[in-house]
Amino acid sequence: MQFFKSMKVQKNKSLKEFTTFKIGGRAKYFIKAKTYDEIKQGFLFAKENNLKTFILGKGSNILFDDKGYFGLVIYNNINFLRISKTNVYVGAGYSFPALGVKTANNNLSGLEFAAGVPGSVGGAIFMNASSYSQAVSDAIKSVVYLTLDGEIKILKKDDCNFEYRNSIFQKMNGAILSSVFSLKQDENAKNRQLEIFQKKIKNQPMNEKNAGCIFKNPKNTSAKILIDECSLKNYKMGGAIVSHVHPNFIINEKTATSKDVLDLMSHIKKVVKERKNINLREEVKVILP
Ligand SMILES: Cc1cc2nc3c(=O)[nH]c(=O)nc-3n(C[C@H](O)[C@H](O)[C@H](O)COP(=O)(O)OP(=O)(O)OC[C@H]3O[C@@H](n4cnc5c(N)ncnc54)[C@H](O)[C@@H]3O)c2cc1C
Repeated sequence: MQFFKSMKVQKNKSLKEFTTFKIGGRAKYFIKAKTYDEIKQGFLFAKENNLKTFILGKGSNILFDDKGYFGLVIYNNINFLRISKTNVYVGAGYSFPALGVKTANNNLSGLEFAAGVPGSVGGAIFMNASSYSQAVSDAIKSVVYLTLDGEIKILKKDDCNFEYRNSIFQKMNGAILSSVFSLKQDENAKNRQLEIFQKKIKNQPMNEKNAGCIFKNPKNTSAKILIDECSLKNYKMGGAIVSHVHPNFIINEKTATSKDVLDLMSHIKKVVKERKNINLREEVKVILP
């Protein structure tokens, strides 16, 4: 353990425990940042030591390499939540499912789907998470962002360039710090949240080691259907297997390596291209060492 100003910097930190896939080697340097200032200090530490940085949420949409990450991983742990009438002020490290449950409990509608998306608020904004006809982009009002140079910016919804599984943040190098959501008063919010959650646990392998949908849905069809129609359910490479519950999910059955998952992804892409003439594009973020 080493200190940079008041911040604890851990060395050789195992990354797999910070992901839902439970795959990945060690981070050369690792910090848990609870405040805006600790993220800023992290950026400064990386600059002074000539390191690349990676902002980690709840690790539910990433595949770390077995070799690890040869830079600084900043685990976003900014966790505040304040609900004022229909406005919700929330830190980027706050659990997105907890936000979905709490807002629905307060009869607020717009984030009922979040209860079944096991990420952080920052990761959900970065990815423009969505399901069952609701999306982050419909409910967000503004985002507080820190650039690599330590400048704080406030982006309004229209500045965020939200698209399906995309946002302006995927072209930037800094960190989402917090956000404001604007929700609607709705007595049925809690019922809807429970309904969506029940559908999710029925249709997705929520309790197995995976990273959600591996591929984005191509226009006018779904990756799940394409993979199923290519008879790839239960197709296995090493410790990685295509889910029989939802074929766009890859499960780490026992001790899959990142190579097992990448090989399986390449195989799926090859077969879908050959049989359907469609190029699948990755939704999961593959993080190079
Ligand atoms: C069982 C299961 C079900 C899922 N269901 C859905 C679903 O229904 N809909 C859906 O959209 N997704 C779903 N996902 C995928 C995943 O949960 C979402 O993409 C989620 O929003 C990712 O958030 P995260 O905090 O885990 O991000 P991470 O996986 O930690 O990171 C993902 C990317 O976001 C970046 N990032 C994270 N936080 C920040 C930040 N504060 N600032 C800047 N960049 C940041 C990371 O650098 C990385 O590039 C599912 C995943 C699982 C495992």
